[in-house]
Amino acid sequence: MRSKVIVFDLDDTLYYEIDYLKSAFKEISEKFSYRLSSSEIYETMFDLYNKKGDAFRFAVENINDNVDKEDLINVYRNHHPDISLAEEVVSVLDFLKKENYIIGIITDGRSVTQRNKIKSLELNRWICDDDIVISEEFGSEKPCVSNYEYFEKKYPGNEFYYIGDNVKKDFIAPKELGWKSFCLIDRGWNIHSQDIITDPELNPDLFISDMNFIRYINDQY
Ligand SMILES: [Mg+2]
Repeated sequence: MRSKVIVFDLDDTLYYEIDYLKSAFKEISEKFSYRLSSSEIYETMFDLYNKKGDAFRFAVENINDNVDKEDLINVYRNHHPDISLAEEVVSVLDFLKKENYIIGIITDGRSVTQRNKIKSLELNRWICDDDIVISEEFGSEKPCVSNYEYFEKKYPGNEFYYIGDNVKKDFIAPKELGWKSFCLIDRGWNIHSQDIITDPELNPDLFISDMNFIRYINDQY
């Protein structure tokens, strides 16, 4: 019998990237010596982020240490984030594993950043390293079909699914390859705003409001 291969996007799908940003800002506010308290630095950086201002510049202008914006960006990218999975995500992953489905990740980003997130989220409880495709390591980014074909080559003859949030790039390759795809609707705090576009080339098979997409995987639709 054909098995199912369920591949997820990482940021704003398995966890909220805003939590990564908060964690990084906290690290930046505590790691250096500033003219203001670390909580004032953190609060103002977050406020500036929300107002589309330059949070890093504000931090650099108030820093006592001899560091520049690039140093802060390095902390942002390389820190070990304080992030965790929501309960609903844990139960979905538990269910998929119990059903013996293969679970994978296709994510765009730097190796060290994405690996640190995966480690903090303890995703290796459900997903093995070989089933994680990170663009910097892999050599191409979504919507490149190769990133998805990796799973087709590794697990031939199965049914493939992709769950993501970015309508500009996540679902193009799945559509081309005949995978079923689901887009998690932005609950209002996604890092990349989600403009739902009515382009059949870009859209997923289904928009879902929470992680409870399992009913669509087990039923014909
Ligand atoms: Mg995403």
